[in-house]
Amino acid sequence: MSNSWTTRTNLVHAGTRRSQYGETSEAIFLTQGYVYPDGETAEARFKGEIEEEGFIYSRYANPTVRMFEERVAALEGAEDCFATATGMAAVNGALFCQLKAGDHIVSARALFGSCLYIVETLLPRFGVEVTLVDGTDIEAWRAAVRPDTKLVFFEALSNPTLEVIDIPAVAEVAHAVGARVVVDNVFATPIFQRSLELGADVVVYSATKHIDGQGRCLGGVVLGSTKFVREELETYLKHTGASLSPFNAWVMLKGLETLDLRCRAQAAGAAHLAETLAAHPAVAKVLYPGRADHPQTAVAARQMTAGGTMLSFDLKGGKEAAFRFLKALELVLISNNLGDAKSLITHPATTTHQRLSEELRAELGITPGLLRLSVGIEAPEDLAADITRALDAAAG
Ligand SMILES: *Cc1c(COP(=O)(O)O)cnc(C)c1O
Repeated sequence: MSNSWTTRTNLVHAGTRRSQYGETSEAIFLTQGYVYPDGETAEARFKGEIEEEGFIYSRYANPTVRMFEERVAALEGAEDCFATATGMAAVNGALFCQLKAGDHIVSARALFGSCLYIVETLLPRFGVEVTLVDGTDIEAWRAAVRPDTKLVFFEALSNPTLEVIDIPAVAEVAHAVGARVVVDNVFATPIFQRSLELGADVVVYSATKHIDGQGRCLGGVVLGSTKFVREELETYLKHTGASLSPFNAWVMLKGLETLDLRCRAQAAGAAHLAETLAAHPAVAKVLYPGRADHPQTAVAARQMTAGGTMLSFDLKGGKEAAFRFLKALELVLISNNLGDAKSLITHPATTTHQRLSEELRAELGITPGLLRLSVGIEAPEDLAADITRALDAAAG
């Protein structure tokens, strides 16, 4: 899907398929099936002999969904892409399509809750052996991989502590034993981190987050080589049914048009708020990959072109202070979603990571005073004023 356009142009134009009416905006093909002029055409399409417009059923492929897939592939610099109903369908498909009983995988431990369920509970149930490691410790990856390791999996920027995993270093360890590298790149965004170029073989996004970016639809994508997407992934996904709805694909196409602008505005806001937070006496610690005091600041500087749109911070007064802070907010909304145009904040210990044991939470750095902020596109000075007032309330 690569072409000579730069990202901002690709986000507006790549993958466009115009109908005979020459519409400016992409058409929504809300159709389950497709009609054929004759039996010969139907036979040829089922044989896969008609490449371009060979649609046969929308669980397999749909023109609006295809536009979305081709635009994301152009954005990521991937050969191909398959869109799914949700981000979790993408993670599930990317892993299950290439694993079988008896395989071994290595995964970072700091994962989005549902991702952790798949690798920790579901895959072992089907006979896949899973080794969990601290993703930031390259020696731990080296010690965990084996000659029979099929793949490694991690979130390049982890939730909620925003650890940065060194993609080229982990890829080198994985590729040395012939294992594939599957990266969930949601938090870093395709705007600030190009995981395939850094060494990943397969990249997964929840399009629900920055790609929609306006809180409307669920969706996901898996990106990789044409061979992987068509021979392994598509076969699994089209027969198991987690296809993206054409309507949601259309909303996502509109989201892509402004993705670069939104992510840059959000990252500028996040960098500004990280400074505001770090300067306040109620804050014990700020976790932002764009700051010099972040534990993996050097890795972040190498593989990300900005600090990203997410930041986390620990309040000195623990859970009580965190809840006082949430109550005092007037602009920032309390929600566990992220990547939205609206700034959203959540208290991971009691929401997204509530089900984890206290020991695992402590190990992952999810302290009682930790809050995770997804910075929106509002004016940074309005956000800073809201946050400063709420920090004063939390301290009081
Ligand atoms: C949200 C999220 C997912 C799951 O996406 P859904 O669209 O909610 O299914 C997976 N990984 C990460 C890192 C996420 O933030």
